[in-house]
Amino acid sequence: MRVFSASSRHFSDLAVMNAHRFCLPFRTPAAARARAIASALKRLAGRALPGQCALCGNLSQELLCEACDAQYWNEPRLRCATCALPLVASLMRREREDVRVHCAACLASPPAFNDTLALADYRAPLDTLAVELKFRARLAAGETFARHLHAAFEDSDLPVPDVIVPVPLSRARLVARGYNQAWAIARPLARRMSVRGDASIVARVRHTSAQSRLDQQTRRRNVASAFAISGDVRGKHVGVVDDVMTSGATLDALARTLKLSGARRVTNFVALRTPKD
Ligand SMILES: [Zn+2]
Ligand SMILES: [Zn+2]
Repeated sequence: MRVFSASSRHFSDLAVMNAHRFCLPFRTPAAARARAIASALKRLAGRALPGQCALCGNLSQELLCEACDAQYWNEPRLRCATCALPLVASLMRREREDVRVHCAACLASPPAFNDTLALADYRAPLDTLAVELKFRARLAAGETFARHLHAAFEDSDLPVPDVIVPVPLSRARLVARGYNQAWAIARPLARRMSVRGDASIVARVRHTSAQSRLDQQTRRRNVASAFAISGDVRGKHVGVVDDVMTSGATLDALARTLKLSGARRVTNFVALRTPKD
């Protein structure tokens, strides 16, 4: 299957750069964020050509060549069962793999969601896929994330959600971008899990800007009223999908809103997780 059509590359580099200027991507400190995107774009520049692997540039009819697909996923990493934050190697030696471990932040102040499944850390080279998906409309990256999230879910002992929803974009951002990158992952993930995927249950009623420099309480207040629920989630286990999880404040606010509306359980499915900086 040819996954990289000419139509998926209709954004010029200039348009991409402008998109960056107006749609700040991730809630990391501004300078670090700019560096990360510049470096990911640099890696993309010579590589993301039709018929080439998005990561190494070797010939490939798939988004990733077989070697990259085998190499970069499923890196053994002990993560907090609640928020998927990578935990230190010393813990990994102490704890058995089947024991749920938690980071200090989740123990001190548990978030509203119950579990988070993350594929890998948000860093090179996989961050390239998130940038491709978010800024170059390369929706095949969403399919790739969904395939690996489904495999990770099958390997876990997490219960199957009743419904899967994407973290919504504000209406203005959705219009500007033309698609929701989280839905590009959530839809194929729901299909693979044979679970209903629904992008209309949650709406983003207020856009929240970068908040990495705010403390946790301020972050929570900042996103507290960002979401509105329009479907019936009473008694349901809701799976929430996002491309990148940074502080977790947005997912916490969304889970809080879902639970206030009666959701029984919330599990996050995120492609990439930012390690603590
Ligand atoms: Zn490759
Ligand atoms: Zn945690």
